Amino acid sequence: MLGLMQQHRLTTAALIDHAARAHGRTAIVSRRVDGTLARSSWGELAVRARRVATMLTDLGAKPGDRIATLAWNRLPHLELYYGVTAAGMVLHTVNPRLFAEQIRYIVDHGGACILCVDPDLLPIVEPVIAELTGIEHVVILCAADAMPETTIPSPIAYEDAVAAAVPLAEWPAIDEDSASSLCYTSGTTGHPKGVLYSHRSTVLHAFAACASDSMALSARDTVLLVTPLFHVNAWGLPFTAAMCGAKLVLPGSALDGASIYQLLRDEGVTFSLGVPTLWFTILDHIQRHVDPADRAQLKLRRVFMGGAATPRTLIERFRDLLGIQANQAWGMTETSPVATVCKPLGFQADWQDDALIDVLACQGRAVFGIELRIEDEDGAPLPHDGERSGLLKVRGPWVLNAYYGNEPGSALDDGGWLDTGDVAKIDADGFVHLTDRAKDVIKSGGEWISSIDLENAAAAHPAVAEAAVIGVAHPRWQERPLLLVRLHPGETVSKAAMDTHLADHVARWWLPDAMVVVDDLPHTATGKVLKATLRAQYRDHLGG
Ligand code: ADP
Repeated sequence: MLGLMQQHRLTTAALIDHAARAHGRTAIVSRRVDGTLARSSWGELAVRARRVATMLTDLGAKPGDRIATLAWNRLPHLELYYGVTAAGMVLHTVNPRLFAEQIRYIVDHGGACILCVDPDLLPIVEPVIAELTGIEHVVILCAADAMPETTIPSPIAYEDAVAAAVPLAEWPAIDEDSASSLCYTSGTTGHPKGVLYSHRSTVLHAFAACASDSMALSARDTVLLVTPLFHVNAWGLPFTAAMCGAKLVLPGSALDGASIYQLLRDEGVTFSLGVPTLWFTILDHIQRHVDPADRAQLKLRRVFMGGAATPRTLIERFRDLLGIQANQAWGMTETSPVATVCKPLGFQADWQDDALIDVLACQGRAVFGIELRIEDEDGAPLPHDGERSGLLKVRGPWVLNAYYGNEPGSALDDGGWLDTGDVAKIDADGFVHLTDRAKDVIKSGGEWISSIDLENAAAAHPAVAEAAVIGVAHPRWQERPLLLVRLHPGETVSKAAMDTHLADHVARWWLPDAMVVVDDLPHTATGKVLKATLRAQYRDHLGG
């Protein structure tokens, strides 16, 4: 017997219509290219999105067509989020920090017919545009009178084209299973791979992110969106914020500590999220340059970190400097991304100090909808006892089933599980403790050493600003850990002193065979340490 409830479609059109109806006056603030702030609202955004849809249709785009963007977190990019997807087209966000060759590959593979580019990113597009044969139009995200000199043939000025377009009267009725957006994983080996989200997966993910044991966003929040709109849909925040009617603040391309702090304070930001590296920069700025009276004006109450393991020291610094409990979430491009969120359970609510940090430093528990399992190398399931670690697999309604261009289901095993490439333990309460990425784990004489645990321990040394641990070939043990550290200015630390410090946190046989002090560590375009580059550079460091 079928239920007798309405088949109301879960689409991004429903999200933006709701935001306009229920939260029309709620502000959206955005830093322009010239550094000044533009002010809009969910109500205005909804109208602009309908104009964008008409403009794209007039340029020949049809439902299902891909519209690529190379843009920072600014208002036009957010307008495209809805103007493209609610009209049934597919938003393909491309990371401008990638190499030209990767950008060319990703745009080409995604098959977009229109490319929308921020004016300050034109130098990235100009050298490759001739090779992007599928692109019929390039839209520059500025007004005609602000358009820079460019070699792009017949560029279209976004502001003028949008202003001239009549707002679309009705969003088309599209199937909730149709594609809404496309993101590529950065792909540390091989070509990047496309993850094609659907309207349904996007809306369900937004429900999950709003839930109170998840990000708990509400209409009383002001969200600073530092996570790039080109990185897993800014972790879904543009959709989550529309669902609950949060105020949004878009920082543009200025992600230095001073610019971010100014927005946090002046816009009354209550919630933000991003990769740990970014928070180190912001906290360093606050610690060095902002006096406590000024700091006290901040309304920031919740901060989420993800995308890479969060060092305990970062959680402690948030607590000590700003009195904030920093939360961690785990996910990947393939999981939209939110899969687990770390919040203490009822019996842990009053825990303090180290006991609390122990909880907050893990990756948290699966949100409703997400199922997890760990397996040994032969595919046999492992118990959730907090002891055994194995390959982490995931399934759920906002988890990928095939990469773009491949057969449906081709990314899954026979049980419908996606291999995450991560290695984890899961304890009896369901808390996930990520020990490594499968390719980063250090295999020493048949035993596994967690590079993440070693990095966390090294980062807790007061002289250390950032730490990375890689496995390096070793004549006797196959692989041994090598520690690379970037120190705070003016600090020094010897290998012996570091070993003494590490021995308080990890087993002695885990101690790195060597330590190298570096001026800087290489990062991926989304701010994670590029271990593949380090492994190539230090391959022979231990005479392997
Ligand atoms: P890329 O592979 O391009 O870096 P993703 O952003 O999809 O792309 O990265 C997902 C990976 O990031 C996860 O598989 C995991 O290894 C790592 N990661 C994400 N969140 C966390 C976290 N909270 N703790 C540790 N690692 C994390």
